[in-house]
Amino acid sequence: MTIRTRFAPSPTGFLHIGGARTALFSWAYARKNNGKFILRIEDTDQVRSTQASVDAILNSLKWLGIDWDEGPFFQMQRMARYQEVIRLLLKINQAYYCYCTPAELEIMRNEQIKAGLKPRYNGLWRDSKVSPPADIKPVIRFKNPREGAVTFKDLIKGSITVQNSELDDFIIARSDGTPTYNFCVVVDDWDMEITHVIRGDDHINNTPRQINLLKALTAPTPEYAHVPMILANSGERLSKRHGAVSVMQYEADGYLPEALINFLARLSWGHGDDEIFSVSQFIEWFDLSHVNSSPARFNFDKLKWLNQQYIKTADAHRLASLIQPRLASCGIDSTSGPLLSDVTNLLRDRASLLTEMTEAAIPFYSPVEPDLKDVIKYLTPDAKVLMNDLLERFKTIDWNREAIHSTITETVACHNVNFGRVAMPLRMLVTGATQTPAIDATLELIGKNEVMKRMGERLLSWPGCS
Ligand code: GLU
Repeated sequence: MTIRTRFAPSPTGFLHIGGARTALFSWAYARKNNGKFILRIEDTDQVRSTQASVDAILNSLKWLGIDWDEGPFFQMQRMARYQEVIRLLLKINQAYYCYCTPAELEIMRNEQIKAGLKPRYNGLWRDSKVSPPADIKPVIRFKNPREGAVTFKDLIKGSITVQNSELDDFIIARSDGTPTYNFCVVVDDWDMEITHVIRGDDHINNTPRQINLLKALTAPTPEYAHVPMILANSGERLSKRHGAVSVMQYEADGYLPEALINFLARLSWGHGDDEIFSVSQFIEWFDLSHVNSSPARFNFDKLKWLNQQYIKTADAHRLASLIQPRLASCGIDSTSGPLLSDVTNLLRDRASLLTEMTEAAIPFYSPVEPDLKDVIKYLTPDAKVLMNDLLERFKTIDWNREAIHSTITETVACHNVNFGRVAMPLRMLVTGATQTPAIDATLELIGKNEVMKRMGERLLSWPGCS
């Protein structure tokens, strides 16, 4: 049997972290088992569904590297098929028209509450022989079995049993004829031959209904695996502040997709103590039986740490290609000046985010405006003497890291000051920043001419240096 899983987002917003983790698990399960992964867009809520959300979902999946074998299928394009199955259910007497008005349903509900019962549709029109009112457009309800129970073995949560008496005859088509969510999902999972429904556990209450419907259609029942929700690290509901933002926001914030994948994989699933693993290792190791049934906690520090580890080992050219457009959007042209891959190599140990790396790369192409407090602190008259001397010495040397280092240490020794007394004003003159990677390596990359130019200009123009 070929394993077929699916991801079925509703395009009513961006793809958030919980949805991405569901997609990841469903995808990994298919990939691990040489199966197929199907993408289905559940766009029947026409009021809330937007093309922008569809695009955001597809872009997020692509950015994460979650590829699909079939689809995207759009439910709105499958209406004829849903109508066909509704007709079939009516024909085999597994569905019926219900003419209750909203007001009648409200009365039914209130009476049940008053009697201490759980409010639900009481099956009034199920086997009614009363002739239907002409002026009411009916809904269509599924004839949920009245006896017995639905039992399924959730691959994450274990065996779950729900009594049929707990389930009412749910609506499968509204009075305007449009099919409902629970119905479309069943038809789709059936038609798309889904063998494993892996989805968020907010859908667990729908599963018994969907199983009953599949049985009524004599369709095979897939396996189900309900993935637990993600909470904030504090145990609260995940909010925007805690990281419940769009996947593409993580991209904008400077995360690498492989770091986010690694992080998501570790939410509710683990492979011993392994913290860092590649996507292919994840696929090899992934198993639904090792998915934890309790909610996962979202730890931002962990994500940042992981990103840092991936930045440390990322290919230099790839890093450069990711930083280049970021620099460009800050008005920095990194095609002239030091090779960006050399700059990213120098910066990779200090950055946990691509945004931090971008900021740190700017002074390699253009000096930044220093903080006035740093100017006052470091660019003292004494420092000017040191810098003028250093500038003279720089003029005569070959421009490489060792020579730059020796020239700085000679100046330090000659003036009998500590290293920082030279390095700090030098750093500020050349880059405008008080923090850079090793100053000799930084200067080497910026290049002799540019360093001399920046030092000369700043020595002349800075108020603190005059
Ligand atoms: N469209 C549903 C959602 O976005 C998912 C339904 C399912 O996976 O069965 O929550």
